Amino acid sequence: MTELNIDSERCNLCEKCLGVCPFAALKVEGGALQVTELCVLCGACVKKCPEDALGIAEVKKSVSRVDSGRWRGVWVVVERDPGRGAAAIEPVSCELAARARCLADELSTTLSAVVMGDALDDVTEELCRYSFDSIYRVESERLADFRSDIYASVLSELVMKKKPEILLCGATADGRAFFPRTAALLHTGLTADCTALAVDPARRILLQTRPAFGGNVMATIECPEHRPQMATVRPNVMPRPAPGPVRDVELIDFSPTSGALRSFVSVLETIEAEPGTAGLAEADVIVAGGRGVGGAEGFELLSELAGVLGGVVGASRAAVDSGWMPYARQIGQTGRVVQPGLYIACGISGAVQHLVGMRSADIVVAINTDPGAPIFEVADLGFVGDLKVIVPQFMRYLGDSARSMKKSTELEK
Ligand SMILES: Cc1cc2nc3c(=O)[nH]c(=O)nc-3n(C[C@H](O)[C@H](O)[C@H](O)COP(=O)(O)OP(=O)(O)OC[C@H]3O[C@@H](n4cnc5c(N)ncnc54)[C@H](O)[C@@H]3O)c2cc1C
Repeated sequence: MTELNIDSERCNLCEKCLGVCPFAALKVEGGALQVTELCVLCGACVKKCPEDALGIAEVKKSVSRVDSGRWRGVWVVVERDPGRGAAAIEPVSCELAARARCLADELSTTLSAVVMGDALDDVTEELCRYSFDSIYRVESERLADFRSDIYASVLSELVMKKKPEILLCGATADGRAFFPRTAALLHTGLTADCTALAVDPARRILLQTRPAFGGNVMATIECPEHRPQMATVRPNVMPRPAPGPVRDVELIDFSPTSGALRSFVSVLETIEAEPGTAGLAEADVIVAGGRGVGGAEGFELLSELAGVLGGVVGASRAAVDSGWMPYARQIGQTGRVVQPGLYIACGISGAVQHLVGMRSADIVVAINTDPGAPIFEVADLGFVGDLKVIVPQFMRYLGDSARSMKKSTELEK
């Protein structure tokens, strides 16, 4: 690390350096020249100093280790999903609750949820259905709209007060925005986009696994010298528990300082996503296309099928790289991990990098001209043939079934 050094023996307080500093980063205080945090090490003062009293030099700073023995407990920062109702919790927060319970048990410590926002009663009750020992509630009108600067300041205040050893959050759009800011405020590390978590109980270390180097290796990362140990976790990589009955859970209200609730951001408008463009991560039905779809226009057919089934369209990397679908639709190791009830793979060969993103779907249907395509090995139902023939047949069949269901309902009436 480089710093501006002031040799106070040589400095005669002539103040010539003050006049040349473009950032007003120098001041004379207490009878000595001092440098402030505004200094960007531009070196203008060094050149100007007639006494050679200033210099930019490398300084070695020892890494300040925290006393990890004072940090205890596993926390999950729970996100709400107001689009699905006041009590709705982001599915990844539920997935984390289950995994974090195992980590806390292995460490013989407690598991807590942190929930921030306004009007938290419904979501608090819902959280009591999961395996938390306690729930930290930070309720304020200032937290009604998501703003990453406020969320990060408030969370870091709470963390500094209570000192949890592990802090987890979903790798959602919001989590990816405010968790790194929180880590920076707490002077600790963060592993983003983890796909697996474990602990070494003897050392009380969180083992944070994620793809690295473009997905070519899986790296397990530790944060041994700082606390809390922070990670965001991808949605759909861990099993999602079903909510249980409401349990007795300790509720702890936390009031942040007014400073923490200050923001430089104003929310001007909230725009709802158009129907059909819903996130892949939550979709129950996904119709995915690969290189075999043959072009962007081929995806219109898949969109139609997705529309009939109430699902959304996904894509392989080959289709995304060809420019037929946006990256947001990519499924696989370097795209989204999905866990729908039904996954229809059209013209996708089934490369291992694609399979890691969809193999936990409940039912996989594959349509492919090549009977030897690896996708058939994970498919529950396979159609060997041209998707341009099979998909329209499929839709006709769905239309006929819907019509006959309607008829029999009318007859029953
Ligand atoms: C580090 C790394 C990360 C990667 N990450 C991802 C990722 O996140 N997601 C991902 O998908 N890939 C990823 N890949 C790429 C992956 O290895 C494959 O190249 C990619 O999945 C292939 O896409 P595809 O199945 O659409 O194309 P192809 O492998 O070319 O398969 C096309 C299939 O379509 C069939 N077909 C052709 N015409 C028709 C038709 N008319 N009807 C029906 N079937 C037809 C063919 O028989 C074939 O099986 C990654 C690769 C690397 C190295």
